[in-house]
Amino acid sequence: MTHPCSGFLVGALAWKNVVTHQEAIRTIRDEGFRGVEVLCNKEHFDWEIPDRVNDMERALGQWPEAVITVHGPFRECDLSCSDPDGWQKNLQMALNAMDVAKRFGARAVTFHVRGSGSAREWNDENHKAFLRSFARLADKGRDIGIPIMLENMLPGRFTAREEELGALVEEFSSNDVGVCIDTGHAQLNGNLAGFVEQFASRAGVLHLQDNSGGNGDEHLIPGKGSILWSDFVTGIKAGGFRGEKVVEVRSIGTLSETLAAIQQSIVETDLHRMNNGL
Ligand SMILES: [Zn+2]
Repeated sequence: MTHPCSGFLVGALAWKNVVTHQEAIRTIRDEGFRGVEVLCNKEHFDWEIPDRVNDMERALGQWPEAVITVHGPFRECDLSCSDPDGWQKNLQMALNAMDVAKRFGARAVTFHVRGSGSAREWNDENHKAFLRSFARLADKGRDIGIPIMLENMLPGRFTAREEELGALVEEFSSNDVGVCIDTGHAQLNGNLAGFVEQFASRAGVLHLQDNSGGNGDEHLIPGKGSILWSDFVTGIKAGGFRGEKVVEVRSIGTLSETLAAIQQSIVETDLHRMNNGL
């Protein structure tokens, strides 16, 4: 019998501020998961400092079979910055993250529409700036053989709605640009079923996380919130999803405790059904 976790990656929120990358990656490997999602966030992993990249590379080197995805920078990086100098600087940060992803052998890099400054601000200029950045990242991804993903955002932010995300990704080839469906963000928007229906086959990455519906973006372990996981799994399988499944939950204690709870959740929700035929 296959291990229930063997189809799932663990996102960095599970070990951020808890243990070193070295220890985290070894522990996740030993618990039988498929791999990890590396998060480009300066206080956690600064992808622009060579020593930090070397450290992460060494940590990942303990697990050569790991499947790796990268979460591109968003806290420090705004790809929709409309000021020309700022635009260039932000784009460069994202391009640097893609170079690091290539070094790590990553399968996908996920981006957000806007992550810093006034996150809710979104106008024609932001839209144009974002499309220009994303086109450069898509070209880079094609050159290095790593597709980029655009993630759905929280309520009130651009790409919270299916048609907003759809209008951006439709500008690109599905070979270069896919979608990351974040289940928790969509649940807060009340449109998880809509995202699944529209993007299951274009989703290269899933961020699996739960919430109670009214307490914000909780990043709970699946099954601890209000998402109907059985419906989600049925829909995403029927829609032809073939990407990577990242459990993106906040730590609930030690890393081992968090991983044990994730394992239990995969068995108890219908998520384990995603191991078959995917
Ligand atoms: Zn996410």
